[in-house]
Amino acid sequence: MDTSSLGLPLVHAGKVRELYALEDDRLLMVASDRISAFDFVLEPAVPDKGRVLTQLSLWWFAQLGDLVPDHVLSTEVPVEVAGRAVVCERLTMLPVECVARGYLTGSGWLEYQESRTVCGVPLPEGLVDGSRLPEPIFTPATKAELGEHDENVDFATVAATVGEETAATLRDLTLAVYARAEGVARERGIILADTKLEFGQRRDGTIVLADEVLTPDSSRFWEAATWEPGGRLDSFDKQYVRNWLLRESGWDRHSGQAPPPLPPEVVAATRQRYLDAYERLTGAPLVLEAEPG
Ligand code: ATP
Ligand code: MG
Repeated sequence: MDTSSLGLPLVHAGKVRELYALEDDRLLMVASDRISAFDFVLEPAVPDKGRVLTQLSLWWFAQLGDLVPDHVLSTEVPVEVAGRAVVCERLTMLPVECVARGYLTGSGWLEYQESRTVCGVPLPEGLVDGSRLPEPIFTPATKAELGEHDENVDFATVAATVGEETAATLRDLTLAVYARAEGVARERGIILADTKLEFGQRRDGTIVLADEVLTPDSSRFWEAATWEPGGRLDSFDKQYVRNWLLRESGWDRHSGQAPPPLPPEVVAATRQRYLDAYERLTGAPLVLEAEPG
């Protein structure tokens, strides 16, 4: 990906995406092949990952069009970023990571073991890592400043940040998107365990679904056929990389040190999982054109 020739003003460089300003309050959102875990950008990049994120998000936005407006305006983008970028509305982002969980794992599982709650939502006894929840729940997190970790919060904290009405809308939209997507994934033999959404607002206050949606970076996708609460959770997402970092790389998450580089076989296996997620969900393989330059 060579964005130096775009000649556009850079508005924001995130860990994964870059935003460039276009005329008329539009943005060019470019997904790089960078992969982040535990708030570190890992080395090296995962080839074609940015295309998977962009193309899978576009596919999902189309599945969700009747539930919520989205930020995509056009897929006609400069050739340097073909396939990995979209033109979108420039929104005022709401500072909430809108997470829906239908299954217990990750930070939810950690909190549950301490308190039998997730983000303040009480849950029944006896759940294990990977258990299906009695019903999907909204488990928001604060969007951390650069270098800080996101923090799970309860609904009241979201209401105090964005107002009661907006908080309720975010919760309802997040759960509606999860319900739709969970059903779509299930038909394809995939469990959507959880997902993180980001919303922004237009000048008139309309709430719009933005960023990426239902990708292997923002969601947990499990193989339904082998799902075993408390046991096996075969995944088509970033969990594979997290597991490698925590179990095999020798890295200490709490050392403050950057993680070691990913070995070529871990990069290749990660790339394959992202491509598999795309193909399993959409029903067709991602068509990869040669990268220009
Ligand atoms: P940070 O932005 O804090 O670095 P990040 O690593 O998650 O976090 P990326 O996801 O790589 O960043 O970058 C995408 C950024 O663009 C996010 O900050 C996201 O909130 C923002 N964004 C997504 N869609 C829009 C939009 N339509 N208008 C304005 N900002 C958007
Ligand atoms: Mg992000």
